[in-house]
Amino acid sequence: MQTITIIPQVGIPDHLIGEVKSKLAYVDEAIIKAQIDESGREIKLELRHPMEETSLKHLEEKVQQVVSTMTQGAIQPKIQVLEDNMAVLTPYCNDPTEELIQQCELHGETAGVFTLGPMLTRLIEFFEENFITLAASFEAKPYRFPTLIPARYLERVNYFRAFPHSLTFATHLREDLDAIDHFAQHAACDESGHLNQPPESFAKIQTLLSPAVCYHLYFSLADKPLPGGKMVATAVGNCFRYEAINLTSLERLWNFTMREIIFIGDKDFVLENREISRQRMARAFKDIGLAYRVETANDPFFIGEFRKQAAFQSAFQLKYEIRARLPFKESTLAVGSYNYHQDFFGRHLNITLPDGSPVHTGCTAFGLERMAYAFLCQYGTDFKQWPDVVREYVYG
Ligand code: ATP
Ligand code: ZN
Ligand code: MG
Repeated sequence: MQTITIIPQVGIPDHLIGEVKSKLAYVDEAIIKAQIDESGREIKLELRHPMEETSLKHLEEKVQQVVSTMTQGAIQPKIQVLEDNMAVLTPYCNDPTEELIQQCELHGETAGVFTLGPMLTRLIEFFEENFITLAASFEAKPYRFPTLIPARYLERVNYFRAFPHSLTFATHLREDLDAIDHFAQHAACDESGHLNQPPESFAKIQTLLSPAVCYHLYFSLADKPLPGGKMVATAVGNCFRYEAINLTSLERLWNFTMREIIFIGDKDFVLENREISRQRMARAFKDIGLAYRVETANDPFFIGEFRKQAAFQSAFQLKYEIRARLPFKESTLAVGSYNYHQDFFGRHLNITLPDGSPVHTGCTAFGLERMAYAFLCQYGTDFKQWPDVVREYVYG
C-alpha cells in the first residue's frame, strides 16, 4: 500500500468537497481510499500497491483534471431547506452495522451486495406500507418492471453521458458451443472472486441492470399520446449503481431497492402532486419519529456533465432530497427524493399531451435499505427503544 498527497491546482470549495471526493473513486483502479481535507487544499489517496513514477504522474494529472472540471466556474447553489426536523430526539448514536451482522440480520456477499434478515425485512415492509399508502392516496396504478434494461433505452435518454461511472452491464456467454464448453470445463474464480474467462466468450452488451424504476414506465409510453393526458403509477424495483470504493455498508449499495410514485401530465399536475406527496410524507415521518430535513439537491452527474447539470437542477429546484440524520457521524443520508424532470422524458421519448406538447414527469423515490438503515442509526436494534408504530408493525 502507498499513500500520496496531491495539492489541487485550484482549491475545492466547501460545497463541492463531497461531490469531488465521491468522483475520485473512479479516477484509477489503484485508489482504495480518497480523502479531501476541510480546507479543500489537500487530497490524500491510499493506493492498493506502490506505483512507479510515470503512473503516479498520470494519476495526479487525472485527479487535477477532475478537480478543475468540477470546480472551475462553479457557483455555490443556494440550498433551500423545505423541512427541518433534525432536532427530533432519538435514543441511539452508534453505527448499527456490526450489531446487525452479529444478529445475522446482515450478510455481505460482496461490496455493496447484502442479504437482509427477518427484522430488517419487516422494517422495510413497514416503510413500504407507508409508501404504498401514499401511492394509494393518489390512486396510483401498480406496475412491475424488469431488472434488466436495454442499452438503447438508456442511450435514448442520455444516461450514458450523465452517469457512465455507475452503470452495471449484463451479458451472457455467446451462443457458441466451443465458448460454452470451454466455460463449463474451465470457469473458476481467483482469490479476489474474478472469473478467469476471456472477454471473447461473452456476448456484446445489449442490456444493463436498471439504475432506476420510473424509466421503465416512460419507455412503455414512448412515441404515443398519453391516454387522458395524465397518470399516476407506482412500482418497487431492484436498482443498480456501481459506486466503487464508496460502497460502504447499507449506506451505499450496488444493488438496492427503490419504491417510486410516478406523476405524468402537464407541468402543474406534476409539480402539484410532487408537493402533495412531500406534505403527506412529512406527516408520516413525524408519526415515525424520524430526524431528517428536506432540501434542494442535485443528481450525482459524472465529472464532465456535473457543473452545468447540477447548477441547472439546483436553480430550477428539480430535486428535493429527504436527508435522514445519522447521529453516529453527525451527518445525513439521502433516503428519498422528490424529483421533477420537466419535459425531459416527454421530449426525448415523444410522449405527448392532448395539445401535442411533450408531457412533464416527476417521481417521489424512496431507497428502502437506506430508510431502514437510517432508522436503525437513530433508534438502534433494540426494539424496546423504538416508536410504538414501528415496534408494533415489526414485532406484532
Ligand atoms: P446519493 O445522493 O446518496 O448518491 P442519489 O441522489 O443518487 O443518492 P436518487 O437518484 O435520488 O439518489 O435515488 C433515490 C433514492 O434511492 C435515494 O434517495 C436513496 O435513498 C436511494 N439510493 C440511491 N443510490 C443508492 C445506493 N447506491 N445505495 C442505496 N440506496 C441508494
Ligand atoms: Zn424516478
Ligand atoms: Mg443525491
